[in-house]
Amino acid sequence: MEMMYRSTRSDQEPVTASQAILKGLADDGGLFVPSGIPKLEMPLEKLAQMSYREMAYEVMRLFFTDFTEEELKNCISRAYDDKFDTEEIAPLVEKDGVYYLELFHGATIAFKDMALSILPHLLTTSAKKNHITNEIVILTATSGDTGKAALAGFADVEGTRIIVFYPKNGVSAIQERQMVTQKGANTKVVGITGNFDDAQSGVKAMFNNKELAEVMAGKGYQFSSANSINIGRLVPQVVYYVYAYTRLLGRGAVQMGERVNFVVPTGNFGNILAAYYAKNMGIPVGKLICASNENKVLYDFFETGVYDRNREFILTTSPSMDILISSNLERLVYQIAGEDWKATKKMMDDLAAKGKYAVTDEMKSRMKDFVGGWAGEEKCAEEIRRVYEKTGYVMDTHTSVASAVYHEYRESTEDDAKTVIASTASPYKFATSVMAAIDQEFVGMDDFALIDELSSTSGTKIPSAVEEIRTAPVLHDLVCETEEMQSTVEKILGL
Ligand SMILES: *Cc1c(COP(=O)(O)O)cnc(C)c1O
Repeated sequence: MEMMYRSTRSDQEPVTASQAILKGLADDGGLFVPSGIPKLEMPLEKLAQMSYREMAYEVMRLFFTDFTEEELKNCISRAYDDKFDTEEIAPLVEKDGVYYLELFHGATIAFKDMALSILPHLLTTSAKKNHITNEIVILTATSGDTGKAALAGFADVEGTRIIVFYPKNGVSAIQERQMVTQKGANTKVVGITGNFDDAQSGVKAMFNNKELAEVMAGKGYQFSSANSINIGRLVPQVVYYVYAYTRLLGRGAVQMGERVNFVVPTGNFGNILAAYYAKNMGIPVGKLICASNENKVLYDFFETGVYDRNREFILTTSPSMDILISSNLERLVYQIAGEDWKATKKMMDDLAAKGKYAVTDEMKSRMKDFVGGWAGEEKCAEEIRRVYEKTGYVMDTHTSVASAVYHEYRESTEDDAKTVIASTASPYKFATSVMAAIDQEFVGMDDFALIDELSSTSGTKIPSAVEEIRTAPVLHDLVCETEEMQSTVEKILGL
């Protein structure tokens, strides 16, 4: 049966998977959701014997039903190839009694590669299927990692252009350097003077601007989104949760049907929502532990049922989680509201107008799969040091938020279920903060010197993604005010 996609904010006609991928966001400003989360068809024992690519097909074909087998397999094999530095694609590493699911073995050493290596192929295939001749303009707001992963994914992909906005003072030095050295004639990188939420709001406003869309169409362009609101990002992320469970099964680390917890360092709520989808597909999951840094708007939401972004925005050493509007939460809200678009729209309108909304008690009772937790800066640094001293394993600052939250959860509950921590970035990407956490003597050292130190401390090889940017020339130096985002896009496209 064909899987169709509905908006979370109106009863507009459902669209096919390829149309949802192309549009990114629904016309009414809502997010596309599948008209029911499909159940896995293949038994877990069988999935346990499959490679990452084979499993990716088994999961994605249930969502992307208007793609032919050949089209989808083609997208998968172009995405999960030797851009990843391991055949396993997402290795599961056991340390200190928990499993770290390493999602950072792709081109830009952060978990965004898991989805952004396949999105350009899903998108160009979708364009062909829908007879689109316009050039597709990818507009992205990034808190650091999405930007580079999207640039790497789309660079020189025919029929596409990509423009990335990032908060000029809100990303790590390595993250910025990764972006501004990006090659590809179809790429543009722009720093803005605001924070990530400003960048995201600016991008959303352009997507919702009908006048702009008309001017674009006149010039042979149309927007699409590579942000985690695109269903073409979300679905590929479901795969690695299925993969993690079946690897545990394959190793005999869990018995069939035994529940595992997933702990996810969360920002925009895309990664953990994918884990929730995996659970709904039939993976035995106990708790989904949503880990926040000091921007703990989600922790408060799971505690109180009130989402309130009216608070100070804090810059932390886990910048990819410095977010006060978690866009993907809208999909969960829609689901726990019993797929009631009117209720969802009302809450999202409240969020836009007042910066907050509350869910009903009934909705709150449907969020029991989730547990919120948060870890402050000091805790997060301590956790990096603790695990390093105990096991020699060095994790990044985002993973350590999750790891710290998990250990606190473990101590305050009786829950001894096997647990998988989503490990979302390589420590090399955040070497400055990671090394400072391990030893104060590293504070103030040069970024690249720290990378060498990290390599000898952890006994791991420096990833080629990092080696490359040491000497690469800066190719992008555009900076604009938040208010100038649209005029900057107009200039770039010659509108
Ligand atoms: C994007 C990102 C996150 C947050 O993921 P969401 O899907 O936005 O919740 C966490 N860690 C790292 C390293 C990231 O890049």
